[in-house]
Amino acid sequence: MSKIYKNPETIGLHAGWRKDENTNSVAVPIHQTTSYQFDDCDHAANLFALSELGNIYTRIMNPTVAVLEDRISAIEGGVGALGVASGLAASAYAIQNLCKSGDNFISSTHLYGGTYNQFKNTFASMGIEVRFVDPSDPQNFLDAVDEKTRAFYGETLPNPSFEVFPIGEVAALGKPLGIPLIIDNTAGPVICRPFDHGAAVIVHSTTKYIGGHGTSIGGIIVDSGNFDWEAVPERQPSLNTPDPSYSDAIWTEAVKPLGPIAYILKARTTLLRDLGAAMSPFNAFMFIQGLETLALRMKEHSKNGARVAEFLQNHPKVERVSYPSVADGFKKERADNYLNGGCGGLMGFEIKGGLESGKKFIESLEMFYHVANIGDSKSLAIHPASTTHSQLNEEELLSGGVSPGYIRLSIGIEHIDDILEDLGNALDNS
Ligand code: PLP
Repeated sequence: MSKIYKNPETIGLHAGWRKDENTNSVAVPIHQTTSYQFDDCDHAANLFALSELGNIYTRIMNPTVAVLEDRISAIEGGVGALGVASGLAASAYAIQNLCKSGDNFISSTHLYGGTYNQFKNTFASMGIEVRFVDPSDPQNFLDAVDEKTRAFYGETLPNPSFEVFPIGEVAALGKPLGIPLIIDNTAGPVICRPFDHGAAVIVHSTTKYIGGHGTSIGGIIVDSGNFDWEAVPERQPSLNTPDPSYSDAIWTEAVKPLGPIAYILKARTTLLRDLGAAMSPFNAFMFIQGLETLALRMKEHSKNGARVAEFLQNHPKVERVSYPSVADGFKKERADNYLNGGCGGLMGFEIKGGLESGKKFIESLEMFYHVANIGDSKSLAIHPASTTHSQLNEEELLSGGVSPGYIRLSIGIEHIDDILEDLGNALDNS
């Protein structure tokens, strides 16, 4: 058992692993195996009955993925985590772990487009209803609740608005009703700790900041261990009634001897078992490399992000900037309340001259990559109106918060002088 650390800088390097007991290898090995030899028949039976935790088959667990799970869980202050194949697999399983056909959940409208589509269309085809509400007023979540509501969902720092989600307010509204808040913290690892504010579950696309290198797709679900799933048992039937897919286990009762991990263990042993979007051991290894510098990188992303926001705000070709440190009113209050140590590297700005200027700006960038990704160590930019949102008309663009001259930036960790030079030249040419 390795020592328990509190600081993300140390956790990212040391949690969950010291060395390989057989070889003394310090680096976490890539356990590229499908299966694990059982000691004997009793051992195998105990593993399947969950009376003993251990490796069975890599679709549901793997020692390399386990180190990543332990480290991310420790960084977020959780009790357990589940690595999966992508950020979208993480959001899907996080919801499906609670909602069945006929149930609903309430989500912020401020969401990554892929998640929005998953919730609105794919979940609808499974009979799970999403109810979208504007997060500016947390009360909207409560107003949309009925007896079939199983969860609330929001993103820490959603684009394009980059308005920080009211985590504490929404979590507090759900708690007395037995409704957990699930937070996608992809945009704010280390700088935001949603569990400290009452969130019950966190999901990440590890593809982004956690990797940082832009080489691997992955996702993770983290269980806070703090949500009382039994407080209003009729609210959470998936965890409080017999589960025919696992010998009629009632998860909250069956898992009690193992700790407050009913939610995350059920996700692993039913959803990952049955739907199979497992994280590959190689990708877990890559994310472990990323975690080693995550806390350090977030400081640099935040430092550079704040400098870029200030630069853009004072630039004559810029109409407005969306970034938490330059927000005002309740948006600034939420940023101050929920972000610690900076606001990260994601921001949006409106260029004067609309669509044409937006396209010219992107084409004039030399160092920034023009890609549909965020959270890389390298600086990235995209012009949604001519790419990701190009099928929408002007009215639809505006209702999604994407104006024709809107540019999204993911500020990297290059030297700030080089970042500002590239942005300045591109603005001059646009
Ligand atoms: N959540 C957020 C906030 C994202 O930005 C993304 C991807 O861009 C996802 C989830 C989905 O992650 P993935 O691409 O790893 O499936």
